[in-house]
Amino acid sequence: MSDFSLNGLMSVVNLAYFFAAAMFMFGLKAMSSPVRARRGIVWAGIGMLLATLVTFMHPAVDRNYILIIVSLLVGGSLSYLYATRVEVRDMPQMIALYNAMGGGAAACIAIVELTKPELRGNLLQALAVIGGLLGSIAFTGSLLAYWKLKGSITKIPKFSNLQVINLGIILIALLLALLLSFSNGAHPILLLVFFILALISGVLITLPVGSSDMPVIISLFNAMAGLAVGFEGFALENPAMMVAGVVVGASGWMLTRLMAKAMNRPVANILFSDTAFFKQLETHSDAVDQTVAAKSVWDQDSEEALSIDAHDAAADLAYAERVVIVPGYGMALSHAQQKLWEFTELLEKRGVKVSFAIHPVAGRMPGHMNVLLAEAGVPYEKIVDIDDINAEFSSVDVVLVVGANDITNPAARDDAESSIYGMPILDVDKANHVIVIKRGQGKGFSGIDNSMFLGSNTRLLYGDAARMIQTLISEVRDIGD
Ligand code: NAP
Repeated sequence: MSDFSLNGLMSVVNLAYFFAAAMFMFGLKAMSSPVRARRGIVWAGIGMLLATLVTFMHPAVDRNYILIIVSLLVGGSLSYLYATRVEVRDMPQMIALYNAMGGGAAACIAIVELTKPELRGNLLQALAVIGGLLGSIAFTGSLLAYWKLKGSITKIPKFSNLQVINLGIILIALLLALLLSFSNGAHPILLLVFFILALISGVLITLPVGSSDMPVIISLFNAMAGLAVGFEGFALENPAMMVAGVVVGASGWMLTRLMAKAMNRPVANILFSDTAFFKQLETHSDAVDQTVAAKSVWDQDSEEALSIDAHDAAADLAYAERVVIVPGYGMALSHAQQKLWEFTELLEKRGVKVSFAIHPVAGRMPGHMNVLLAEAGVPYEKIVDIDDINAEFSSVDVVLVVGANDITNPAARDDAESSIYGMPILDVDKANHVIVIKRGQGKGFSGIDNSMFLGSNTRLLYGDAARMIQTLISEVRDIGD
């Protein structure tokens, strides 16, 4: 190909990469609002498609078309099938798996780049090494997170001084990284040891992380995988990879910080804390099932959790001055958000002041509740976040908890022995009355009992959230004006 046509081709490819990068950024911006999030995902997807297709025109890609097309078809079809079938509750596992793929792919690029005999230690080589380190840690760490979340791993051997061992491994890996970054030619043995240490480190970081901290670690691996891709983009001098990777890395890191703040734990504490997960395993095996008596009046006092029927619950809500609704994962599972908004409008017509309190890690993905409530048409001004609502619960007549559990568990606030101690909660137990819609004795994500259910001001309203809210709607309509 002549220089002239080669330059022309590269201009087209770079222009397409520029548009793809712009689509990633506009897509990400749109994703920051629940209303525009869907549109943002489509834009970012179009950007990715454009970047992938135009890469076929890149002069450096002049062979192995069949292999590339087969890989794209296999990877694309598998992820399409998985994404269309995955249940909302399995979303964190899916994200963990995709992070593993991203990190693993970046590590593979690093291996190819760092085994070239013509290497002459320079900055690009160093970036390939750092990308390989981050990608390998994200790969094994995310795979372990996937298996832990799936429940495939419940028994983990205890190691003493796990953090010290891990710190030692990371330091040796960093030393090897330095050697690999500035040496000439390939060093297969050094490279092999470097990658094995990085892979082990991913496992050791994830091993002790407790389940309630899992969203933070998944988000951190997302940032690592993104950065790894970005660094490999620099090594390959591919602008689309650079921008996509850096954007994912930066946004993943911001999300990690926000989620760690929501859990009231510094990121370092989650990564290098002692044995939150081991503590949780012990709590699981010691846990005793609560037995719930079917009694239903507010003035009763009992050692056990008390229930209420829909008729009494509807009266309590209909005659309240102020109601706060706390949605959780059960609302998402039951798809109860539309019914909940219908019920809210009905209460408001009666003059009840209703608002929604959202916990930052309610559900199974960041912003999960915001997206569902926005989809149901709940206006923004009705949604109050944890910092603003907590001071007000003591003046709230009734809190209606819809399929939420961990985010209301006072053990996180009061019980230093609890595996979720330190995670901020909605102080729902301080309200006058609390009605909790749930189906039975199911525990939350953390697998521990909720002491709020035993409170004298709390009643459990048993049933599927959507069906129960429909019943409450009928009961309130029957009460009339
Ligand atoms: P949760 O603690 O998991 O509790 C969900 C509750 O919903 C359960 O008690 C369950 O009890 C009930 N439920 C399930 N299906 C229901 C249905 N159809 N109708 C009515 N109730 C139903 O949920 P959460 O309070 O939202 O807390 C979220 C948890 O997930 C936190 O521990 C958080 O750390 C973790 N997490 C969050 C994210 C994130 O990014 N948001 C990611 C991963 C993990 P029954 O079975 O008795 O009905």
